[in-house]
Amino acid sequence: MANVLVVAEHIDGKLRKVTLPTITFASQAAALTGGEVHVLVLGNGVDAVAGEVAKYGVSKVHYANSPVFENYLAETYAPAVVKAAQAIGATVVAAPSSTTGKDLLPRVAAKLDAGMVSDAIAVFDDGGIKFRRPLWAGNVLTTVEVVTPVKVVTVRTTDFEAPAEGDAAAVEAFDAGVAASDNAEFVSFDQVKSERPELTDAAVVVAGGRGLKSGENFQMIMDLADTLGGAVGASRAAVDSGYAPNDWQIGQTGKVVAPDLYFAVAISGAIQHLAGMKGSKTIVAINKDADAPIFQVADYGLVGDAFEIVPALTEKLKSIV
Ligand code: FAD
Repeated sequence: MANVLVVAEHIDGKLRKVTLPTITFASQAAALTGGEVHVLVLGNGVDAVAGEVAKYGVSKVHYANSPVFENYLAETYAPAVVKAAQAIGATVVAAPSSTTGKDLLPRVAAKLDAGMVSDAIAVFDDGGIKFRRPLWAGNVLTTVEVVTPVKVVTVRTTDFEAPAEGDAAAVEAFDAGVAASDNAEFVSFDQVKSERPELTDAAVVVAGGRGLKSGENFQMIMDLADTLGGAVGASRAAVDSGYAPNDWQIGQTGKVVAPDLYFAVAISGAIQHLAGMKGSKTIVAINKDADAPIFQVADYGLVGDAFEIVPALTEKLKSIV
């Protein structure tokens, strides 16, 4: 068997959307290995999540309910993933390139004595299974071959579409046999509560930069985002200046987004920012500097003062949406 194992993510009893493009990646990998796509769901009371993910064209879903998995800890999740990978004969183990995936999979790779690819954006056959990943803020794309029998991969989910829903696959309980960790203890999980969609899931993102000059001025970014039912993002310079919270940061050292519509307001378009948003389907840039590099990636560019353009645009949109 040369199956592919996907580690599912969920929150508040619901499947996280980042799992879906990871399944698409896994299906493409399985087409090359000749195996099946299996999904592992770890948690406590995750039967519904397992049932939900089973509808996305996978061969089987394995779920483990245990108080040990109530809260994510790499120390307890990693041995469970390793056991599941070995049980199903996985030659590829994949997870979203999220905070959790980036924390969990290196540990899984070490335990499986496997080579690892981070941020995979493609998988293909070129005299063997190979992966493509960006380097240097997306300026270089590199091809990676993993020579170990098992390959562990975090997936850049913005580069894969979600699969269509279909017939539900078999769902099976999995005995991970993992005890509580002696080395690590869960303390708390502080989640930012927002009425807006999650930045990485949103169809519309409105992001503001240092050119906004204050946190108060981000209100017009929020107003535009709320008019379109979108999420709010920021450049690192805006975050570092204290105008926006850290979890809004988009870019090389922030979140990677690829919404249908991205507004870059008073953002110059440094390569480190582009690394987090240039996969967006339609990019609208608003900047008073006609030579700002953001206009090189923009589909629509508005040269002018954001303090005039954004409120006027919001008013206009309010009258039509
Ligand atoms: P600026 O470059 O200062 O641009 C402000 C823009 O606002 C200008 O183009 C200006 O013309 C425009 N402007 C000013 N006033 C107005 C107005 N009234 N109306 C319209 N436009 C106006 N950056 C990120 O964003 N994300 C990252 O993850 C990230 N990671 C990094 C990692 C490393 C290792 C390094 C070295 C840098 C990183 N950076 C990142 C920083 C990046 O290099 C830039 O410094 C940053 O993106 C600039 O942010 P900005 O465009 O908001 O600010």
